[in-house]
Amino acid sequence: MSADHVVGVNPMFARPGEARAVERFRMALESMLPETAYQVVHDEVMLDGNARLNLATFVGTWMDDHATRLYAEAFDKNMIDKDEYPQTAAIETRCWRMLADLWNAPDPEQTIGTSTVGSSEACMLGGLALKRRWQQARRAVGKPTDRPNLIMSSAVQVVWEKFCNYWDIEPRYVPISDEHQTLDGHDLASYVDENTIGVVAILGVTYTGMYEPVAAIAAVLDTIQRDTGLDVPIHVDGASGAMIAPFLQPDLEWDFRLPRVHSINTSGHKYGLVYPGLGWVVWRSTDRLPEDLIFKVGYLGGDMPTFALNFSRPGAQVLLQYYQFLRLGRSGFHDVQKASQGVAMYLARAIGEMDAFELWNDGSDIPVFAWRLTGGYTDRWTLYDLSDRLRMKGWQVPAYSLPDNLADTTVQRIVVRNGLGMDLARALLDDIRDAVGYLDLLEGPLPAERHVAGFHH
Ligand SMILES: *Cc1c(COP(=O)(O)O)cnc(C)c1O
Repeated sequence: MSADHVVGVNPMFARPGEARAVERFRMALESMLPETAYQVVHDEVMLDGNARLNLATFVGTWMDDHATRLYAEAFDKNMIDKDEYPQTAAIETRCWRMLADLWNAPDPEQTIGTSTVGSSEACMLGGLALKRRWQQARRAVGKPTDRPNLIMSSAVQVVWEKFCNYWDIEPRYVPISDEHQTLDGHDLASYVDENTIGVVAILGVTYTGMYEPVAAIAAVLDTIQRDTGLDVPIHVDGASGAMIAPFLQPDLEWDFRLPRVHSINTSGHKYGLVYPGLGWVVWRSTDRLPEDLIFKVGYLGGDMPTFALNFSRPGAQVLLQYYQFLRLGRSGFHDVQKASQGVAMYLARAIGEMDAFELWNDGSDIPVFAWRLTGGYTDRWTLYDLSDRLRMKGWQVPAYSLPDNLADTTVQRIVVRNGLGMDLARALLDDIRDAVGYLDLLEGPLPAERHVAGFHH
């Protein structure tokens, strides 16, 4: 057994029967005392990053003590088991009905939705409904259904690439550029044809945090329909923005107020303020979700519709979402998101004022913003070097290149979440200034091989 394959055991457990090495990749023959096993796992994850200093992820890393208590009481609940947990099932329905209302569904009584394990599953369901409706409409008029396509920005989250790959749909990416930083309807007519199942509009582009102008996209699709007769629906990927816009930009029309928006997804575990493992998708009305995608499971002697990709999955997160809805209400959500926005805009302003940087956006959509190096500032260091320096202080601030057609542009991004307060923000700014000062003064060649940070979705 090479040293690499052995997990060291904490010497405090050097009691008889416990001081032994355990293999990393093979299950040991004998059992271990629970407190020893606990300590081994506990000690290993000590080396994981500090979630509060992780400014790369969108996913919730803090809930209050009451939520933690509720979580512990609900570890065992299986969301699919609607017969055994009818109250959890009822609460799930209440949650997506509340979301339908929050997203201005014309008649929340006539909507349909579900919880999922995250936005990825929710996006897949939204996309499947678009595909199935398009197929049905084509079959009804005797036209072929073998070449569906989906239109979206080149800056979509990776789930949409997966969706197209897994379900045999041609992705049509509209490239972003300096003039068109998001999918904004520009040139859309040249992408749409009779095989287009829909357009994805992103409320809160993962790369930068910017909103795509859903109303402008819908208006262009209206014109296309007038000119060609093609009626192309929109799915809004509101993974983060659908839990920000209703509170911070209530007048922005991006949701079911636009008749062309068929469905919306969000991540309960992003700005829904719940721990990882929760997404939502809602359709504007039941007729936008084809019946044949719905399966019936037994529920209190009746039938309960389900249309998730997963069968068993945790129910606890759904209860946590309901807790947050009750606990915060609209005003509480507004206050929490407003605080994050305040910190994001403060950080963006301060970073934009530094000579080394120019902002890509200012954090006023979702509390996320990105910046790049000022042209001509330096060719001695890059944002990847800055990311490395900040990592030494524990901060995770990823640098990455933008998608097509801006693949030559490197940006760095900060996601402000509940829990990044002004004190931490000021400490971060000090560390950024120190790191820039250090990199500016550095003499001699920098290491040729640059660390390429992963892109954090
Ligand atoms: C995070 C994100 C997703 C994927 O959501 P998960 O909840 O992580 O599965 C999809 N789209 C966008 C725009 C996102 O930001």
